[in-house]
Amino acid sequence: IIDSIQYHCKGERDELLPAASYSLVQQVKNRGVYSFCMCPGGFIVPAATSPGEVVVNGMSPSKRNNLFANSGIVVEINVEEDIPKYEKFGVLKGLEYQKDLERLAFTSGGRSQTAPAQRLTDFVEGILSSDLNPTSYQPGLKSAPLHSLLPRSIGSRLRTGFAEFGKKMKGYYTSEANIVGVESRTSSPVNIPRNEQLEHPEIKGLFPCGEGGGYAGGIVSAAMDGERCAEAAVAGL
Ligand SMILES: Cc1cc2nc3c(=O)[nH]c(=O)nc-3n(C[C@H](O)[C@H](O)[C@H](O)COP(=O)(O)OP(=O)(O)OC[C@H]3O[C@@H](n4cnc5c(N)ncnc54)[C@H](O)[C@@H]3O)c2cc1C
Repeated sequence: IIDSIQYHCKGERDELLPAASYSLVQQVKNRGVYSFCMCPGGFIVPAATSPGEVVVNGMSPSKRNNLFANSGIVVEINVEEDIPKYEKFGVLKGLEYQKDLERLAFTSGGRSQTAPAQRLTDFVEGILSSDLNPTSYQPGLKSAPLHSLLPRSIGSRLRTGFAEFGKKMKGYYTSEANIVGVESRTSSPVNIPRNEQLEHPEIKGLFPCGEGGGYAGGIVSAAMDGERCAEAAVAGL
């Protein structure tokens, strides 16, 4: 489907062309909704780190020759406006919100690594899917009413976002796509402070870095930040 939309071809793309990718972005009610790490010819994989949670992520092998395309679809979150009831958790409020979303995916996905899913068009139209499309996600999918389960600040923006994506990329809005929940680790929910020497302002010798510290998102930016922190640590010796 993605190949035929992007290359305007019918059926299989020319063998000299790589699997097609896309990048979509839409503003919905003052928040960005956008595609993230689109993986042509890839897999959706389990990425949980603790029991009782379901987290999914996407990847492509180098040949990008799997049948399925996948992409994270991100909704920007404004901590003050979107999650006021998490205020009691202080600086860890984003982390607690993330955990709740991952627990929600675990319970609605069937209390195993099976992930909750819905046909794209059913999600947007607010209908529980009677069956799902085939998937690259090995633990399997369970049909769930994600349109009503996700917090409104995320779910309603996603639904509008998908409908708009369908207008920008004709054929994208299709019942042949599944949405799978939740890709909740796109960026760190905390930011550990550091000074100009990249050292924590209160804990000597601690250099918060990379994605977990809130200073990177992705392989290259995390690697470069780690390198800078290593140099700063050596300079401070
Ligand atoms: C399936 C998948 C696909 C991805 N695909 C891409 C992609 O295509 N492109 C891209 O740019 N990014 C991708 N990412 C994101 C990328 O992997 C991360 O952004 C990047 O690895 C972050 O690097 P980091 O060094 O900050 O953290 P990490 O790589 O997570 O390293 C943190 C390390 O700390 C260790 N650790 C944690 N707690 C402790 C502790 N208490 N004591 C000691 N050690 C500890 C962990 O074991 C780990 O080795 C993908 C991620 C996943 C899961």
